[in-house]
Amino acid sequence: GKSEGRNVYRFFEPGMDALARARLTLETDLDTALKRQEFVLDYQPITNIASGEIVGAEALMRWNSPTRGLVAPDDFIAAAEDSGLIVPLGEWALKQACSVAAGWPPGMRIAVNVSAVQIRSADFARSVISALAVSGVSARRLELEITETVLMDESETVLKTLRQLRELGIRIALDDFGTGYSSLGYLRRFPVDKIKIDRSFIHDIDNRDTAAIVRSIIGLGAELGITVTAEGVETEAQLDILRKAGCVEAQGFLIGVPSKAADMARLLKSKAAS
Ligand code: C2E
Ligand code: CA
Ligand code: CA
Ligand code: CA
Repeated sequence: GKSEGRNVYRFFEPGMDALARARLTLETDLDTALKRQEFVLDYQPITNIASGEIVGAEALMRWNSPTRGLVAPDDFIAAAEDSGLIVPLGEWALKQACSVAAGWPPGMRIAVNVSAVQIRSADFARSVISALAVSGVSARRLELEITETVLMDESETVLKTLRQLRELGIRIALDDFGTGYSSLGYLRRFPVDKIKIDRSFIHDIDNRDTAAIVRSIIGLGAELGITVTAEGVETEAQLDILRKAGCVEAQGFLIGVPSKAADMARLLKSKAAS
């Protein structure tokens, strides 16, 4: 079967090139890293543009490796997906993020990134429900960020899972919106509560055409009753354009960089108290 085919390549072979060897080593190291609890989540605040208030935070994974140093997710998530480790790793992230969010002020939302591979696993919905139950966080506070790759396979299983989670009150956000090929089509077919405009658009928002695209995504969201979040907001000028366009939420270095769980908890509590 498919899994046997995989295993054949789990050995170093003389014909393997350096890249393939490095990849194998990485996959093995990731497995060990999960057992040794070397992964951490940082949290980046998300703000409501109109009120200026923080409404939640996104959990972003890092690998604190004793040999490689602090490794960014872009350098290990793909390998974790290939090896299948993303399933237990993603499950850990969900549990961890929910238990951290349990200590936040009431109503504060927690957004967790979910890989397509993870969502396809049969146990996904159950693991989400379990993360909520164990932490005591209500479903309304949880947002799952998925990308188009999740929706691309159009499987009945994935659709069912998304519907089931949504019925519980969990929000589904479409991440990196605008970078794929047919985002608009997905909005029509899939249950989505939020779109996150990819940061490349915000970065180039000075450009007239880019600004027009951003404004139309915001308008589309309003028409469809979908919350629009702008990612990668770094300057007041960008935030100003977004505010005028009626964008609902913003996230980016201007609002806050990803920070340690303890620092995020302190920030959220100080805001809630003031
Ligand atoms: P993403 O979900 O689009 O997350 C936003 C990325 O943009 C984060 O990079 C964040 O640090 C960065 N960012 C935030 N504000 C700004 C800004 O103002 N300017 C710029 N230039 N960048 C900003 P990070 O943490 O390196 O994560 C990269 C990607 O890794 C994420 O992109 C997400 O796709 C993936 N990822 C992170 N954590 C997880 C996870 O727990 N599970 C899965 N499956 N993927 C994850
Ligand atoms: Ca995300
Ligand atoms: Ca994104
Ligand atoms: Ca991304």
